[in-house]
Amino acid sequence: MTARRQRTLARPVIIEGFGLFGGADVTMTLLPAPADTGLLFERVDLPGRPQIPARIHCLVPQPRRTILARGTARVEMVEHVLAALAGLWVDNCRIQLDALEPPVGDGSALEIVEAILCGEITLQASEVRPARVTTPFRVDQPGERGAIDVSPGEGCTIQYDLDYGATVIPAQSFTALITPEEFVREIAFARTFVLESEVALLRARGFGQRATPQNLLVFGPGGVVDNVLRAPDECARHKLLDCIGDFALAGGLPRGRFHAVQSGHHLNHRVIQGLLGALEPQLQSA
Ligand SMILES: [Zn+2]
Repeated sequence: MTARRQRTLARPVIIEGFGLFGGADVTMTLLPAPADTGLLFERVDLPGRPQIPARIHCLVPQPRRTILARGTARVEMVEHVLAALAGLWVDNCRIQLDALEPPVGDGSALEIVEAILCGEITLQASEVRPARVTTPFRVDQPGERGAIDVSPGEGCTIQYDLDYGATVIPAQSFTALITPEEFVREIAFARTFVLESEVALLRARGFGQRATPQNLLVFGPGGVVDNVLRAPDECARHKLLDCIGDFALAGGLPRGRFHAVQSGHHLNHRVIQGLLGALEPQLQSA
């Protein structure tokens, strides 16, 4: 596959809403950025408007979401906006936030994708230089079921196998070669989900006070509560969307095949740590 040219937004895109975890009102402005900028968060509500690169070295490990920090400045639950940008092959973008979290929208990447496509995407002079998988490897968690097998391949192909065992969510799998067309058609609409049994615990920890079945799919004993699935395998598609957002922390979508079985953010991040660690000597000699 020949290298494609880098892409950015043709004009600023503004999306308003509130964050899923903390519930704070937020305005997110996506701005064009020069070639080789990458994806870069900017907390415009903080003194000095600190910038936080969407790179794995800025990761703050926490359960259930992806958090980045530089110095004392943080951004949380960034995986869906990163998925929207990486899925649309937007390589360079300044992501301005005036709060800790991007707007949740309907729990998917759809609102962000539609806003970006309204604003148009433009080609830049430089070509992308993605990280490439050259040697197969696996990341897993001793004693737990999740694993991701990584192998060389053209493009970025992700398979996600989901199996929640004896719950109301049936076992399901979804595979995609990530292109903007595939991302918009098959993945962007897939929403965040939880089991009803998890909701009370999250609320007790102060999370999701503004979450409703309209911005968070809730699975009760009888199925989805007060909502309908957009696809029978929407959950696997959403987990694949999370993989795209997390894998973008490689500085753009890496080239390779990724077979994820019941993985979460932690394993997704470890794939990128493993990939960049393995690639470092090659990048240095390139
Ligand atoms: Zn998600």
